[in-house]
Amino acid sequence: AKSSGREGYAFYVQELTDYARQRVELASSLRHALDNHELRVFYQPLHDLENGNPVGMEALVRWQHPQRGLIPPAEFIPIAEDNGMIGPIDAWVLEQACGQMMRWNAEGSALRFVAVNVSSRLFSRGELDLKVAQVLAETGLSPQQLELEVTESAIMEDPDAALSLLTRLRALGVRLAIDDFGTGYSSLARLKRLPVDKLKLDQSFVRGLPDDIEDAAIARAVIALGHSLGLYVLAEGIESPAQVDFLRALGCDYGQGYHFGRPAPVTANHGGTPMATVA
Ligand code: C2E
Ligand code: CA
Ligand code: CA
Ligand code: CA
Repeated sequence: AKSSGREGYAFYVQELTDYARQRVELASSLRHALDNHELRVFYQPLHDLENGNPVGMEALVRWQHPQRGLIPPAEFIPIAEDNGMIGPIDAWVLEQACGQMMRWNAEGSALRFVAVNVSSRLFSRGELDLKVAQVLAETGLSPQQLELEVTESAIMEDPDAALSLLTRLRALGVRLAIDDFGTGYSSLARLKRLPVDKLKLDQSFVRGLPDDIEDAAIARAVIALGHSLGLYVLAEGIESPAQVDFLRALGCDYGQGYHFGRPAPVTANHGGTPMATVA
């Protein structure tokens, strides 16, 4: 048992160094990923639960790594946040998404808006409104057609700075959504003052629906809270028709998830909308 403990330790150290080495390698190749055109934007539809129609698209970044293949954002966004690449990456996604929304408009698409994620790092730096104004001016997109998603935890890291930045963004006319809602411990006193339009109920509370009693209670409470504050509520991570029925019955406004469509690249056929992929 003693020796296996040691081996276990050695193994652990080896794993750690592998992990650290991988991370250093990824960090340095990430610096060139943008210049080498290795990043991709996938789009996932956001649906109106009342009539089932898609009303918007969320832009989700991926890294098409020449050796490792498609890397999900959970593996490289944290690295980008540490090595300073998150600013250029989020700005690039914003430009791509606004340009794509203009193309959907030109094709006569019924989509009303595109949603873009903002890292807490950028958010806390506070110059985001200047970048957003610049991209809107360059692409010609109407601000009402852009929704920015900021996580609840990013807001709670510095609530006063968040309030000031969200107010400036709102003044530009863009829509604002609180992402991963339910995981970030907002106080209700803070929440009522935030100039936002929408709560995105975190998918961890949708997973157990409709049968899990606690998830059902949380979903019901968040929808009621959002509506009583005059906000729209979107449920993330919807995978089954039973979840759609349950959330629609609670009056949840919008839904997103594999049930409606997975994130996908825009293809030239299919009228320019992401490929219809079935869960
Ligand atoms: P998020 O903003 O909460 O995005 C939703 C995530 O849930 C996406 O993962 C999406 O593919 C996944 N998802 C959607 N529907 C379902 C479903 O029915 N079931 C399950 N199990 N998952 C579903 P993805 O694309 O891997 O992105 C992960 C996170 O990375 C995002 O979470 C967001 O926080 C971050 N991210 C993605 N793109 C960007 C970006 O351009 N900038 C920044 N700063 N962060 C990004
Ligand atoms: Ca999001
Ligand atoms: Ca989310
Ligand atoms: Ca439970």
